[in-house]
Amino acid sequence: MPIISAPHELLESDIYADLQPLLGHCLCMKCEGFNFGGSVKLRVAVFMVAAAERDGLLGPDSILLESSSGNLGIALSVVAASKGLRFTCVTDPRCNRATVRLMRALGTEVVVVGEPHPEGGFLRERLDRVRGMCAADDRLVWLNQYVNEANWMAHYEITAAEISKQFPDLDVLFVGAGTCGTITGCARYFRENGAPVRIIGVDAVGSVIFGGRPAPRLIPGLGASVPPPLFDSSLLDDMIRVCETDTVRMCRLLSSHGYLVGGSTGTVVSGAISWLDRHDPNQRLRSVAIAPDLGERYVDTIYDDPWVIDNFGPDVLRPARPNVHMR
Ligand code: PMP
Repeated sequence: MPIISAPHELLESDIYADLQPLLGHCLCMKCEGFNFGGSVKLRVAVFMVAAAERDGLLGPDSILLESSSGNLGIALSVVAASKGLRFTCVTDPRCNRATVRLMRALGTEVVVVGEPHPEGGFLRERLDRVRGMCAADDRLVWLNQYVNEANWMAHYEITAAEISKQFPDLDVLFVGAGTCGTITGCARYFRENGAPVRIIGVDAVGSVIFGGRPAPRLIPGLGASVPPPLFDSSLLDDMIRVCETDTVRMCRLLSSHGYLVGGSTGTVVSGAISWLDRHDPNQRLRSVAIAPDLGERYVDTIYDDPWVIDNFGPDVLRPARPNVHMR
């Protein structure tokens, strides 16, 4: 095990859970929640702050600013605390309560927007707020994960390289879509290295990333209410949309076996199993699904029976294999 001298140095994660005994298909879950940011976003936070430092954007009075549904906010809180920088995070009411408290515990100022924008939802509302704050205070440095090249570069240089090293004969990679940094970085890596890996994007029903109309969603992490600039459908071999009931069912199936995973992991694994059921009935393909975080931050939602019953009905309490809506 490595010895680190700052919390943001724990950037690598070579931990995979083989889900074949549970789900039948040859599917390994790449577990990204075992670092001090608790998610895959620690990599992105480190790369974006390093790029800002390299570009000379950070002076002695600078305050980092970012819009995040949670995980990047926590990751940037870790990096900022570790480097002695100030950080303000703009989030929305879908952000888990625990996530807001974690950011505050790390010294971050958290701004929670109130109502969603009538057309662009909470994401548009958050971005409008960030723009307004930047116009009013020139100490603020907006890292802007939606357009920052360091976002996808972090996954190109680390996430994808790790997968390729561990699985030289990989057939299929399942990746969730939010800002699309993970999809872009991984797809570019495998394309440029000539590896015949099929890249399958997974998103939530109600998100607009793969097209379609926006609809309310309750689970943070995946999806977007406005199209993310990094998204490029030509990088993908297929796209799957999963409804939140299937996400919750898969999370609860995995947790019933001790894998307490985050919401987007339930979405990606549910989508992966459905895709493999259709395309690999003989279970020959070797596949990996990226699991962006763990489930502790979802104990008041996905893993809370009354919350599930209120929002999805009692049937969804029962863990189950997916029933996915293909594009
Ligand atoms: N899952 C979770 C839990 C996340 O926090 C994120 C990032 N918002 C994603 C998936 C999507 O990753 P990306 O932004 O790279 O598309």
